[in-house]
Amino acid sequence: TEPKNDTQSGDVNQILKEVWGYDAFRPLQAESIDCVLGGRDSLTVLPTGGGKSLCFQVPGIAKPGLAVVVSPLISLMKDQVDALVANGISAAFVNSTQTDDEKQHVATLIRSGELKFLYVAPERLLQQRTIDFLSRNQVSFFAIDEAHCISNWGHDFRPEYRGLRMLKQRFPTASVHAYTATASEPVRRDIAEQLGLQDAEILVGDFDRPNLTYRMLRSANRTAQVVEVAKRHPGESGVVYCISRKEVERVTEVLKANKVSARAYHAGMDDSKRQANQEAFIREKCDVIVATVAFGMGIDKSNVRYVVHAGMPKSIEHYQQESGRAGRDGLESECVLIYSGGDLVTWKKIMSGESDNTAAFASLEAMHTLASGTVCRHRSLVEYFGQEYATDSCGACDVCLGELELVEDPVVLSQKILSCVVRVNQRFGATHVAKVLAGSKESRLIEMRHDKLSTFGLLSSEGQAAVRMWIDQLVGQGFLYRTGEYQTLSLSEPGWELIRGDGEVRLTTAAKPKSSTYSRGS
Ligand code: ADP
Ligand code: ZN
Repeated sequence: TEPKNDTQSGDVNQILKEVWGYDAFRPLQAESIDCVLGGRDSLTVLPTGGGKSLCFQVPGIAKPGLAVVVSPLISLMKDQVDALVANGISAAFVNSTQTDDEKQHVATLIRSGELKFLYVAPERLLQQRTIDFLSRNQVSFFAIDEAHCISNWGHDFRPEYRGLRMLKQRFPTASVHAYTATASEPVRRDIAEQLGLQDAEILVGDFDRPNLTYRMLRSANRTAQVVEVAKRHPGESGVVYCISRKEVERVTEVLKANKVSARAYHAGMDDSKRQANQEAFIREKCDVIVATVAFGMGIDKSNVRYVVHAGMPKSIEHYQQESGRAGRDGLESECVLIYSGGDLVTWKKIMSGESDNTAAFASLEAMHTLASGTVCRHRSLVEYFGQEYATDSCGACDVCLGELELVEDPVVLSQKILSCVVRVNQRFGATHVAKVLAGSKESRLIEMRHDKLSTFGLLSSEGQAAVRMWIDQLVGQGFLYRTGEYQTLSLSEPGWELIRGDGEVRLTTAAKPKSSTYSRGS
């Protein structure tokens, strides 16, 4: 869309230049800014590093009145407010860490009409006092950052975001604008609905990161695999994500033992030590930071050359966000994910304590299916975020680079699996089919006389886990699909053709532990 009129687009370009020193807008920033200027509710989905903050900060400066920015984390708020103030813009936050005097000062700035940006956490904003106070002053619009937190279909649901729905009712003249890096199509719809956005413009940026090379490795010797990646990037900045604090400590030690300058970062460390390690990484006093996912929110280091996940993240959204911290400067960078069936079990244990975890389990399974799949990683990621991927071979992932260890006769193997799906009348899910092929002695299976099928035990030497993985891979490549509540497997047209011997398929070899060539530290 074209900017609404020349005066406004002139203004915003000038603001971009004068306040930030930037010459041009990034993709969708101008369109997103137009929504705010025109007072049209909107949802802007841009990947991490896409420049979402400017989408509300630039029009917040251009428009009269106060912009209220809702943000979930105090640390993020403080960074953004500091950056605005450093650029000469009147901005402040309110939160529980402030004294009464400080809060009074902010209130005075708002009453005088001087303040341009107020950052606030949802639970604070929704207090009756805050709402009443704001409704007596001129609020031009609300910017909801990390808007996926409102959806329990997302990966980071925060119940306090739900209350934001009342903003449209209490402030009928203010527009509401939502921003997120992580929203699949259902989450997108949910955000617009939960916020009660009216006739919202939905802008979705390009999620592909062509300068990133993705590799997804089955875990063999995790720490050795991490060291191997670090050794490929001597002297370069890297981030290693681990699932647990214990893993962080262990991986850091092994990296150090292999002469990689690495430091740890996790919530269990004391604040000063953690801060010091983060500073050291940002100021290039060390090359690698080994962290739990807590690291990176609000970190803006552009020359990270590689991101390793030493364990599978719990969703594709998390993966996109965390791996996206590599190569923000646009230069070639590497993202390596090391996964195992064990990670799946670990996460399920963690999640089983959560009350409504159906969505969380589905996100987890999607991540595992992608990692163990044999479809181009760029394509898988982009399509997951609801976009088309036009390139046939990206040339920048383990699949397209031919690095996967593939089984030698995938057609015959696939035919065995597809036949078994047919033998159980396309009425069972992947786990059951895998059990039949692996020759499970489970009583349910025997009661159904599935041990009498010709395909029973046909792949017993491969084991159930391997068969399960191949089924996922056949689903990923469109030979099988899952339907209904029970995720019943059935054959697609290409699936039937493959049974007849027509078509190409890719299946990876089953896991075999590899021996390590690096020392394991002490
Ligand atoms: P996001 O919130 O989408 O992850 P940020 O708003 O933090 O991204 O922006 C990432 C970085 O890009 C910041 O350093 C920001 O100043 C910079 N940036 C944003 N827009 C532009 C632009 N139009 N030109 C140059 N740099 C930009
Ligand atoms: Zn590829």
